[in-house]
Amino acid sequence: MALLKILHFPDPRLREPGARVETFDDALRQTIDDMFDTMYEAPGIGLAATQVGIPLQLAVIDVSEEKNERRVMINPELLDRGGHCDSEEGCLSVPGYFDTVARAERVRLRAQDVHGEPYELEAEGLLAVCIQHEIDHLNGHLFIDYLSDLKRRRVRRQMEKIRREPRATSPGSA
Ligand code: ZN
Repeated sequence: MALLKILHFPDPRLREPGARVETFDDALRQTIDDMFDTMYEAPGIGLAATQVGIPLQLAVIDVSEEKNERRVMINPELLDRGGHCDSEEGCLSVPGYFDTVARAERVRLRAQDVHGEPYELEAEGLLAVCIQHEIDHLNGHLFIDYLSDLKRRRVRRQMEKIRREPRATSPGSA
């Protein structure tokens, strides 16, 4: 088991979009295993490669209570989105901060799995929100980008305080 270092806002690497994954090899599978280990350990329900300093279109998700529903999204894109929900979100890269973000309630995802096989997935509720949160990461966006400048500045100050005195994150973070 290898734990990766999760980057925290305002690290500039969180703003770099991931490049398309072209090679589906053992190294990629190892990275994915390490990302799951890191996500479960945090604990979180999703983790994007860009959050651990790997600039690739790759994210792992598990929103199950039992932590036994591993999902891998490689080169993901949203084909469709519908409905609206106010989602209470946290982020492993913004530890200790939670706020409400407007998201689509349902999404249709197209992505590739660990072997490079394309798949499509219809998701709603927490899984749909988590997919949107992770795809944002892969494009260099953070959930706090949806907040007002004033709130984001407050988050930044809070993060600087946390860097001196680490705090636990909630299980709902991604
Ligand atoms: Zn996040």
